[in-house]
Amino acid sequence: MHFKTSGTALYAMEALAGQIGSCRKCALALSRTKTVPGEGPAPCRVMLVGEGPGKKEDESGRPFVGRAGAILSDLLAQIDLSRDEVFITSVVKCRPPGNRTPGKEEIAACMPFLERQIAILSPVIVVPMGRVATSAIFSRYGIAFPSFREVRGKRFLMSENETGREMSVIPVYHPAVITHNPPARAALEEDFTRLGEILCTLI
Ligand code: SF4
Repeated sequence: MHFKTSGTALYAMEALAGQIGSCRKCALALSRTKTVPGEGPAPCRVMLVGEGPGKKEDESGRPFVGRAGAILSDLLAQIDLSRDEVFITSVVKCRPPGNRTPGKEEIAACMPFLERQIAILSPVIVVPMGRVATSAIFSRYGIAFPSFREVRGKRFLMSENETGREMSVIPVYHPAVITHNPPARAALEEDFTRLGEILCTLI
C-alpha cells in the first residue's frame, strides 16, 4: 500500500488493510491471489470506488493498475488531479473469478470495510464508478437509486454512518466501460468534467 500522509488515519488504514488481508468472510477469499484494500492519502479529500479488483490488481494487490487504471489516470489529469491525490478502492477487496460482477452476498460481506474506510478517511467527496459501486453505496447510505443513468454526474449528499458527518457523492461511469464500448468515452469524459466542476465548488 502507498499512503502519502501519516498519523492516526494512516495507522487506522494500515490496521484495516491487515484485517482485509486475512478476511475470509465470503467465497471470493477462495480464489484471490492478493486482497486489494486500496491506496492513496489518508485522510483524503476525494475517494474513488470501483467494483472490484481485476486480474492485474489481484496479482499486484494494488487498485486500478491495468488498462482501466491508465484510463482513470488520464481522466483525473483532465481535471487536474493525480492518482497520488485521491484514494482509490473498490466495493469488494478480492477479485471475482473471471471478472464477473460481485454477488449481493459478497458485496454485503465486504461493505463494512468500505464503510470503515470512509469513516477513517473522511473524504469531502465519494465517487462511485459504475452501476455496481453506485448501487452498493446508495443502498448502504440510504440514498434512492432509480437507475445509474439517472444519477450519474449528479451530486448527492450522504451522512457518514459512524459520525453523521455529511459528504458529497458523485457517481460516474466506470473507466473500464470504454474498453468494451469505445463510444462511451464521451460520456465518461463528460462525467469527469462535471466531477471537476463540482470539485472546484467544494474543495
Ligand atoms: S471480498 Fe471482502 S468480504 Fe470477501 S473475502 Fe475478500 S475482503 Fe473478505
